[in-house]
Amino acid sequence: MEKRHELVQQVMNYSHKELAKAARYYDTVDKFPEEQMKQLFQMNILPSLYKHLNNLNYHDYLSVIRLVSKNFPALGSILLTQESHCAWPISQFGTEEQKKQYLDKALNGELYGCFALNEPITGSEIEEMNTIARQTETGWVLSGNKDYISNSPIASVLLIATKTMSLDGNEGYAVFVIDKKTNGIKVGELEEKMGIKALPVASVTLQNVEVSDKQLLGGVTEGLIQIQSILNRNRLAVAAQSLGIAGGALDRGLKYVSYDRNLGKRLIDMASTQFKLADIETGIYSARSLLMQVINSGQEQDERMVAMTKLTASNLAIDATESIINMSGGYGYMRNNDIERFVRDAKITAIYGSSSDRLRRIIAKPWVDNKM
Ligand SMILES: Cc1cc2nc3c(=O)[nH]c(=O)nc-3n(C[C@H](O)[C@H](O)[C@H](O)COP(=O)(O)OP(=O)(O)OC[C@H]3O[C@@H](n4cnc5c(N)ncnc54)[C@H](O)[C@@H]3O)c2cc1C
Repeated sequence: MEKRHELVQQVMNYSHKELAKAARYYDTVDKFPEEQMKQLFQMNILPSLYKHLNNLNYHDYLSVIRLVSKNFPALGSILLTQESHCAWPISQFGTEEQKKQYLDKALNGELYGCFALNEPITGSEIEEMNTIARQTETGWVLSGNKDYISNSPIASVLLIATKTMSLDGNEGYAVFVIDKKTNGIKVGELEEKMGIKALPVASVTLQNVEVSDKQLLGGVTEGLIQIQSILNRNRLAVAAQSLGIAGGALDRGLKYVSYDRNLGKRLIDMASTQFKLADIETGIYSARSLLMQVINSGQEQDERMVAMTKLTASNLAIDATESIINMSGGYGYMRNNDIERFVRDAKITAIYGSSSDRLRRIIAKPWVDNKM
């Protein structure tokens, strides 16, 4: 049997004991789960990963996301957003000054950050972005609208993806690191969502926001590679979250089908129930193996492999939750049994971090470009 890292075991125990109950509560009130995030930060998950403390590796971190999401998927969303949309880009691309200013605080939960690519009308198509940063004699001026930005209501630092127009007329892409209090930035009202309700999501409007060169992520206009890398990092975490959701639904389904019914008969005694559950278990192992393969073989930035991993895992999360609610009758449909929440929460895994159809296009691209 696989030996778990001590910290992963700690998260597993916490998730099992505390998070299902908390998830039920936050699903009804649409509030940010401050206390639960505080508990996760106190476990030092991100500092251990980034500072190589206690040998916690990337694989362990993804297990943390999976285990948190097994009971409280929205908490998994908040944590993976903080890591892939804030800590990781700053650690990977940031200047020394940016790291000094934000990284430790992002790792230990003193501040939250977010990454804004998606826009009304053009969505998350990088080339079609309308948010533009125009270079001036003293820096840059940003204008545009960003939609559905995770953690933006609680963030104090925003990573904003833009097109750039430099003084010499050249066009490019950049990511800017900006304090939320900067003049011209407005974060909209909390969105009301179908699922992952505890994840705070809002729009971000930028109206003539003046920033300096120092606020370019890494001090460079290499936005395209930075944005694609951030997306890949995020997609693998969403894959891990999807595995957690499928596993959480399976556990709850198993509990229901194992109850003694009339005359000592259980639903699990029916072959059709066994087949469905066996398919989910097989799907979890397959998707997990793909995720591990991508990480173990250093393909975390191979866009196509990452797309296949997220697509496989999110399909699994959606199919598994659907299958479990179907086999649990009226019980699964009721709000107090978690199963309907898992159906709603699973949906997001095929939307954020790029929709499944966008991922399919990435997978098909080499055939279209005739490069295979
Ligand atoms: C809860 C939530 C949190 C989010 N968090 C963030 C965040 O933190 N940062 C951020 O930048 N964004 C975030 N997003 C935005 C998210 O990434 C986009 O919603 C997603 O990429 C889909 O884009 P869209 O909503 O504009 O849909 P559209 O682009 O309107 O697409 C609708 C559908 O059309 C199809 N489609 C559209 N264009 C293509 C294409 N080119 N190829 C193939 N199919 C296509 C797809 O099936 C897609 O699902 C979040 C969204 C939600 C709902």
